[in-house]
Amino acid sequence: EGAEESAQSGAIVPAGPRPENFPKVLALPLTRRPLFPGFYAPIHIKDPKLADSLVELRARGTPYVGAFLLKDAKESVVTGEKSGEEVKDSDLKGEALYKRLHEYGTFAQVLNVIRSVNSDGPAQVFLMGHRRLRLTGMLSDDPLTVSVEHLKDKSYDETSDVIKATFMEVVASLRDLMRYNPLYKETIQVFVQNMGNSHINAARLADFGSALTTADEPLLQEVLEQLDVEKRLNLALVLLKKELELAKLQATIAKNVEEKISGDQRRFFLMEQLKAIKKELGIEADDKTALTGKFFKERLEPHRKQCPEHVLQVIDEELSKLQGLESSSSEFNVTRNYLDWLTALPWGQYSKENFDVRQAQTVLDEDHYGLSDVKERILEFIAVGKLKGTAVGKIICLSGPPGVGKTSIGKSIAKALNRKFFRFSVGGLSDVAEIKGHRRTYVGAMPGKMVQCLKSTGTANPLVLIDEIDKLGRGHAGDPASALLELLDPEQNANFLDHYLDVPIDLSKVLFVCTANLVENIPAPLLDRMEVIRLVGYITDEKMHIARDYLERQARENCGIKKEQVELSDSAMHSLIETYCREAGVRNLQKHIDKIYRKIALKLVRRELDTPKEEEMKQNNLVTVAETKSNAEDMAIKLTDSAVQEGETLEAETMLPSEKEKVDIAQKLPLEKPPCSEPEEKLTGVKASTTSETDNKVPDESASSETKEKEEAEKKVAEEQIKINDTNLHEFVGSPVFVSDRFYDKTPIGVVMGLAWTAMGGSTLYVETSVIEEGEGKGGLQLTGQLGDVMKESASIAHTFARKYLREIDPQNQFFTNSKLHLHVPAGATPKDGPSAGCTMITSMLSLALSKPVNDDVAMTGEVTLTGRVLAIGGVKEKTVASRRSAVKTIIFPKANKRDYDELLPHVKEGLDVHFVDKYEEIFQIAF
Ligand code: ADP
Repeated sequence: EGAEESAQSGAIVPAGPRPENFPKVLALPLTRRPLFPGFYAPIHIKDPKLADSLVELRARGTPYVGAFLLKDAKESVVTGEKSGEEVKDSDLKGEALYKRLHEYGTFAQVLNVIRSVNSDGPAQVFLMGHRRLRLTGMLSDDPLTVSVEHLKDKSYDETSDVIKATFMEVVASLRDLMRYNPLYKETIQVFVQNMGNSHINAARLADFGSALTTADEPLLQEVLEQLDVEKRLNLALVLLKKELELAKLQATIAKNVEEKISGDQRRFFLMEQLKAIKKELGIEADDKTALTGKFFKERLEPHRKQCPEHVLQVIDEELSKLQGLESSSSEFNVTRNYLDWLTALPWGQYSKENFDVRQAQTVLDEDHYGLSDVKERILEFIAVGKLKGTAVGKIICLSGPPGVGKTSIGKSIAKALNRKFFRFSVGGLSDVAEIKGHRRTYVGAMPGKMVQCLKSTGTANPLVLIDEIDKLGRGHAGDPASALLELLDPEQNANFLDHYLDVPIDLSKVLFVCTANLVENIPAPLLDRMEVIRLVGYITDEKMHIARDYLERQARENCGIKKEQVELSDSAMHSLIETYCREAGVRNLQKHIDKIYRKIALKLVRRELDTPKEEEMKQNNLVTVAETKSNAEDMAIKLTDSAVQEGETLEAETMLPSEKEKVDIAQKLPLEKPPCSEPEEKLTGVKASTTSETDNKVPDESASSETKEKEEAEKKVAEEQIKINDTNLHEFVGSPVFVSDRFYDKTPIGVVMGLAWTAMGGSTLYVETSVIEEGEGKGGLQLTGQLGDVMKESASIAHTFARKYLREIDPQNQFFTNSKLHLHVPAGATPKDGPSAGCTMITSMLSLALSKPVNDDVAMTGEVTLTGRVLAIGGVKEKTVASRRSAVKTIIFPKANKRDYDELLPHVKEGLDVHFVDKYEEIFQIAF
């Protein structure tokens, strides 16, 4: 039986040791898996003593040991170092080791022992399994020697169908395994080779199959312990099938990973190539896409917290979209621009508002004279803001004639509130996209003005001035007025949606200020949401203040002229206002003052050009030549000097010719060589005056040389001062434009002064009537003066009413029946319309009929019905201001307009005799 056994195993191990020779063996622990008969296994031996014993065994020619798997092996027995936990398994010895060994093991041959260099360290040992063993007892403990029983498989019928079938199935599984992993293939090939042609029995195949798998130790140990071949074959088959599944899974994983890696690699490779090509062609220096994305992220970062959630979401989406785009594509540019706008807007950034009423008042007063009602309204707004804690956006509409300071007060409001200022004019605007933005899909699409405003001001609560809202154009596609409404309406604008931006923005904190010339032209729904403040224009007195305190200062600053260098007399300013700049606003006045100061600047510069020459000449002793030549310029300077001393009246009379000549000469200067006498003369003058002054002062207070110098300088400035008064004003601004609105000093018969109101403010106008021809029944009326339909009707009503009224007061008078009248309203070139001249026309006709001029300085306005009722008119304030400008003393207004008049400031009403009438009779009483 032993021979048979040896013959069977002889296929792998040529000469088998006899079991009866080895009832006791050295026990070696295995840590990873059990050793199957017919297989090799390398193990490490750490214990030098054990290694020595193995070497000795080999030397004796009996290199056989028992290899047993450790129960619950945690750590390699032999590789562990002498530290902590590892000691447990690797240093197990004697009894302790014995207890940890599995009962079933393998009788193994020591094929080789390889010691480390110093020959007493750890060793590597190669074992080869022979047959199964069972522990029966422990014999000695160091090294552990045990008594064993050599085991044999239970006998079985190799021809049984079950064994055959299982056998074949195991072979098939092995073949499948081979397909999945080349590693198995080698092992299997070696196995088959080793077997040679010899008979492969079921028991061996089961061992082989199991040993090949990566199953856990308990399962393998189970196979080792199984002596029933059929059962063992089954166990092996199960393990193999599991292994096969595992191999399949492994193969799919490997395949997936490989695919992914090769895909990524391919892409990476191609991208790198592309970059290289681009670089070579000079198309792109670096990765623009990534840089752009980074730029936007960095820009947004500081405000990320204040940014609304929905906006952040859009930004993030767009950013990730950007990353996927090729930087040369048009889509990339669209997305980049869009992101640029989105990230540049001041989300949740507010400028800190000023709620200090006093400070605001100072700021407002600094910039504008008067306008107390406007200022009051702004202060109210601030006060509300202070009490409420937040200033809610409101719409203020400033209406009035041009140049009254609508725009500039808008700016001041922003300054007073400490808000950023943005102005856009909607005059003639017809494209809704200007307000609402274009859709992003258009080439060159842009967001609307409001978004641009937010970007440029950098705050979400600026003051936006919408200029010329009464001149809004008509849109061809969409109505700009309704787009504006959406923008302005406090109910809607918390969620204003710009077409380009496509995310709602909150405009509720924006303060809107609109300006208009005529409130009547503002679309009704817009007007409905506004609070209108009317600026009616300035009277002479106010203009004087504005010119003196604001416009002059500005002009001086703009021209770099010092205050001492110029003296613009009150009378000159007065004529400037009265005869050059009569309109309601002050823009024209500002232009004139600027013009004057520009001319002054030129004069000063020319004079300065002469000054150094003066010194040169003095040095060259050219005084004598100079002395003989007298010219107008010298005269002027002399006269100025004397004027300073002797008073203004003299100056006014004598300055005119000399100043004029002075200018002429000054203009010639560059051409002709300058006469040197002028500076000399002037110098002597200066000298004379200064010496006299110092003479006086020295004994008194012994002034230092410093103060003397200062005084001299002052004196010099005073002498060089350019003076402008009534008489030389025209040199600076040319001849007067308006001689006067009043071209009659005393109104003749048939002429009456009326009051008109236009977009340019109020003005006075005359209504003239005269007789064309007389004769029985010739009565009639002819009209001229570019009268509109309403005014024509008004004239015919006047004619009828005058006829009726004359009959009442003078029944004998047949004037209207027998005279053909001509009514004219100058100036003939200006179109006029409106019903408010009714009473003026009647009075004019009656004046003619009665041959009686109206009282001096009376002006009137009012619509008259056929029955003689006087109806309300518009523009009372403007008309009053205009009357003041035209020096009217008595004004007649319809009674219904009394309320408007009462609202006027006291200084405007000053010196006016105003009558409020209900019926025409009352006018008649006042006028004649
Ligand atoms: P508008 O917009 O009404 O046509 P602006 O605001 O452009 O007029 O005003 C024209 C000029 O007149 C500005 O330079 C402004 O400073 C000046 N101005 C108007 N009113 C006043 C005032 N009350 N005080 C000082 N300057 C004024």
